Amino acid sequence: MSFTSFNFNRHISEALKRYGYVSPTPIQHKAIQPVLDGRDLLGLAQTGTGKTAAFVLPILQRLSVNPSSHSIQSLIIAPTRELAEQIHTYIGKFSTNLDLHSCVIYGGVSKEAQVNKLRRGVDVVIACPGRLLDLAHDGAVNLSAVHTLVLDEADQMLDRGFLPDIKRIIKLLPARRQNLVFSATMPTEVRSLINGLLVNPVEVTADHTKPLTKISHTFYRVDKQQKNQLLRSILTEEKVDTAIVFTKTKYKARSLAQRLEKQGFKATSIQGNLSQQKRQQALDGFKKGRYDILVATDIAARGIDVAGISHIINYDMPGTAEAYTHRTGRTGRANQSGEALTFTTVEDGKMIVSLKRALGKALVYKDHAVADITASLHKAHDTEKNYSDTIRKPHRKMRGKRSSQRNRMAAFDFGL
Ligand code: AMP
Repeated sequence: MSFTSFNFNRHISEALKRYGYVSPTPIQHKAIQPVLDGRDLLGLAQTGTGKTAAFVLPILQRLSVNPSSHSIQSLIIAPTRELAEQIHTYIGKFSTNLDLHSCVIYGGVSKEAQVNKLRRGVDVVIACPGRLLDLAHDGAVNLSAVHTLVLDEADQMLDRGFLPDIKRIIKLLPARRQNLVFSATMPTEVRSLINGLLVNPVEVTADHTKPLTKISHTFYRVDKQQKNQLLRSILTEEKVDTAIVFTKTKYKARSLAQRLEKQGFKATSIQGNLSQQKRQQALDGFKKGRYDILVATDIAARGIDVAGISHIINYDMPGTAEAYTHRTGRTGRANQSGEALTFTTVEDGKMIVSLKRALGKALVYKDHAVADITASLHKAHDTEKNYSDTIRKPHRKMRGKRSSQRNRMAAFDFGL
């Protein structure tokens, strides 16, 4: 099947060609026509499946049919600023030459530019709930002409406690409208939200529970204290072009990025303590290749769409199987292959069981030589110089060992 069967407007078709979209992904294949037909829709789709285009393309098509009023007709709600920005960029790409205006609204930056943009007239708003309500309260945003509402990553939205805000926003919309909800998982809270929201919806699923199959998943058993050495050894010895390294805490993300930088890697971090401007700078630097390694907390697992990330490294185990899926979904985008490497410690037993279930098979563990060098590292005190001197020698040793170690990749159950 190709995109031609949807009869998109000439400008949208040209954009599809320009961005190399030849055939729809499964979720697009199932969702685009019902959305074009004005149906309500529930999309069970994880990130990386092409779900953004599944709603953006038909929304743009529907808007392009009538002369634009530049009043807000489509409202897309997203849980994070990064995701909102990403959807906005996506809309920009596909609406070139259409007489449509869009704007993105989120907190952490000044209201003024957003209010001015709204005043000039927009057709599509992509917003995080808090700032949107804030602007509605100020009378700066009029939602009375909205005919399509999209809730993207609804499960994440509810996780973040946005349910009351979403209910308030819905009250500001006309009763007759099209509703589209996308969610990677379907906890009961999401189920009850959509029961009250969607009317006779079409349900489309894109294998939402399983991590993407194009990704290879490898696990390393490691002591907490060995994680830095293991990471360094992977970054120097594996073919890592670009990587996102996930940590549990904001502090760790920052300090690990600084440590990697000192070791000569082009690394930066993105975490919730940074201002929006700094977050954007880090993300842009990573997208444009100024940095090869982005150390991130889970906030970055959502909404980062960077082409060609070769590795996802879970320096710290994620808290849930869903979070694992979201993190690893940053690689293997649109059917490319990617590698997910996860460090496991003795404390991660419960998560290992959940991951085994989510992946549907035994976890593949890889031996590594860090354990061999730990003893010498311990002797070498903690200065950065001693650290690098000590680690360089074992690295050379490791290279000789590596091919045999690679062959020693063993798949076995953790036995829990
Ligand atoms: P998403 O799941 O919407 O974040 O999309 C994941 C990635 O797949 C993005 O980089 C999209 O640009 C890309 N993509 C989405 N649909 C297609 C398609 N039909 N053909 C090629 N690339 C696509």
